[in-house]
Amino acid sequence: MARQLAMVINLDKCLGCHTCTVACKNLWTSKKGREYMYWNNVESRPGPGYPRNWEVRGGGFDANGNVILGELPAQADYGEVTEYNYEKGLFNGGGIVNAEPEPSWGSNWEEDEGEGDFGENYYMYLPRLCNHCTNPACLAACTRNAIYKRQEDGIVLVDQDRCRGYRHCVQACPYKKVMFNSFKGQSEKCIFCYPRIEKGKPNACAMQCPGRIRQVGFLDDTSSDVYKLAVQHQVAIPLHPEYGTGPNVYYIPPFSGPSTVDDQGRPINIDRIPMTYLRSLFGDGVDAVIATLRAEREAVSSGGSSEILEVLNSNNRYSL
Ligand code: SF4
Ligand code: SF4
Repeated sequence: MARQLAMVINLDKCLGCHTCTVACKNLWTSKKGREYMYWNNVESRPGPGYPRNWEVRGGGFDANGNVILGELPAQADYGEVTEYNYEKGLFNGGGIVNAEPEPSWGSNWEEDEGEGDFGENYYMYLPRLCNHCTNPACLAACTRNAIYKRQEDGIVLVDQDRCRGYRHCVQACPYKKVMFNSFKGQSEKCIFCYPRIEKGKPNACAMQCPGRIRQVGFLDDTSSDVYKLAVQHQVAIPLHPEYGTGPNVYYIPPFSGPSTVDDQGRPINIDRIPMTYLRSLFGDGVDAVIATLRAEREAVSSGGSSEILEVLNSNNRYSL
């Protein structure tokens, strides 16, 4: 029987520290041709993300279930690869990187900028990785049959012996989470740390996350936190479900606590992150999730208990 591993990421607790990105980079993408690759990245939203403007580049499936080949991002959209020069930048009044001209855009260029006027401005962090989709557009688009989905855990992989670097997968993935290694001339992507998973260890990003906001497990394992959050209580939802790929990375939407004060300095309980923005990311289902989370929090504040909050506040990172 086919099984599916999934990850739940609690956006309400993401610190934006990028430890997950660094853990992934150190383990998987430090080799030649992967310099610009972040299989895991953390975006400040609203913002263009990584690669730049990935949400408007197309991909996924049309209403008839045909795969859509979207736009191929340019190398510059992933950000240029430069080396830092702290001596020059910090002590000699120069730019901080060894590049002429200095880069004008890169991954996380607009970190923490967000949107809105002072006092009502907001932003949130959005960690992203390949969703190991149930219906992967990358797989559907590959004319070499080089992309496959494992029966035992649903992990989607690129067979490097078969890939010829046509990049149809890059075009078709609406999340732009397959990347091209120009040194090897092949496509590469997040492997969900399968060598670790096979040893019963969680993904490096989940293991190293200091906020402990990532949980990994099988969707059909009723004892796993992933099952409780995504299946049983349905408070973890995928990013852009409308793309039609059936993502298996689920998010707890940010709870959006009060950020504005009245003239007495008391917090006003308004949504910091507009619901319209959250709907643009997670679809209309986000309203019900926020309502559930609010009700659970109020129940606990009034002396009650909440299995959802207990799971979210636990230190569990995996159930494999
Ligand atoms: S997120 Fe993109 S690369 Fe990953 S499985 Fe889905 S379609 Fe393929
Ligand atoms: S390591 Fe965890 S808290 Fe830090 S940015 Fe990544 S997901 Fe967020």
